[in-house]
Amino acid sequence: MNIFVTGGAGYIGSHTVRLLAEAGHRVRVYDNLSEGHAAAVPAGSLFEGDLADEKRLVEGLLDGFDCVMHFAAHCSVGESMEKPEKYYGNNVVGSLRLLSAMRKTGVKRIVFSSSAATYGNPVKTPIPEDHPTDPINAYGQTKLDFEHALKYYAGAYGIGYAALRYFNAAGAAPDAKIGEDHDPETHLVPIVLEAALGRRDAVAIFGTDYPTPDGTCIRDYIHVYDLAQAHILAMEAIEPGKGRVYNLGNGAGYSVREVIETARRVTGHRLPVKEGPRRAGDPPTLVASSEKITRELGWKPRFPDLQAIVETAWRWHKANPKGYAE
Ligand code: UDP
Repeated sequence: MNIFVTGGAGYIGSHTVRLLAEAGHRVRVYDNLSEGHAAAVPAGSLFEGDLADEKRLVEGLLDGFDCVMHFAAHCSVGESMEKPEKYYGNNVVGSLRLLSAMRKTGVKRIVFSSSAATYGNPVKTPIPEDHPTDPINAYGQTKLDFEHALKYYAGAYGIGYAALRYFNAAGAAPDAKIGEDHDPETHLVPIVLEAALGRRDAVAIFGTDYPTPDGTCIRDYIHVYDLAQAHILAMEAIEPGKGRVYNLGNGAGYSVREVIETARRVTGHRLPVKEGPRRAGDPPTLVASSEKITRELGWKPRFPDLQAIVETAWRWHKANPKGYAE
């Protein structure tokens, strides 16, 4: 198939592009490189453009695409609480421009990167897809708002979609050719590995007074390749005018302290920590039930355990201590 991948030079996008190419699909990456890296995508696949630029989106989409995979978004919970305008502008307004460009060019399928942050504070764990959605941060709200738009666009315009609610993506390509590199980095696993490389003095723990066994937040970490594989399965399942929503996690929760402990084992570094206040917008616990995608699409993770996830990330970080800046 011909696939148009927004944000395909970013972390999850670039890993998905790689799997798509390996599976024989033709891919065009649409990315403004504000956060993505040209070096992360196959030569010749990049079509530079901004999500805000509908004219450019239409130009990019004109060559007969079967499906859009929409990764382009701002994705830091903490920042979304300080700069909600940035998040609504890109994640909602920009995404609506993409839908408009799809309508103009007749592209009828989209796989959307949604988030566990759409749920807010869980009333039940593990979280199934029919759990109430009540985000507690602007990032999660923008993801939920666009899911709602998709639902109505599907009904009115025949667009078919899959919204994938990611829990915490981590890890890197097993051959260490591509990996995670945000600037500034805000995500826990790469931050811990940067500390192991000596690029940070300590890992800050955001909150030690949560109602969890060790007082730190619990998250469900999922390997980026397992997420990427789910995109391919979801794309193949999309039907015109209909939507599907799937959670993606491993169904196991690890606290911030447990992630750091795992990284100590994997890297052999001491990894000093600095305990600090909570970060705004963080629910205490987010753990997925991915039973639905397993049952309906046969999704099966290749890297279900945290240690294997951190090991792949560590291989990439060691080989690329300055990320893509090398
Ligand atoms: N976290 C932390 N220190 C950091 C970065 C993150 O304690 O330097 C915590 C954060 O508060 C959350 C968890 O680690 O509880 C995962 O955060 P991340 O930003 O990686 O992903 P999110 O859950 O926000 O998608």
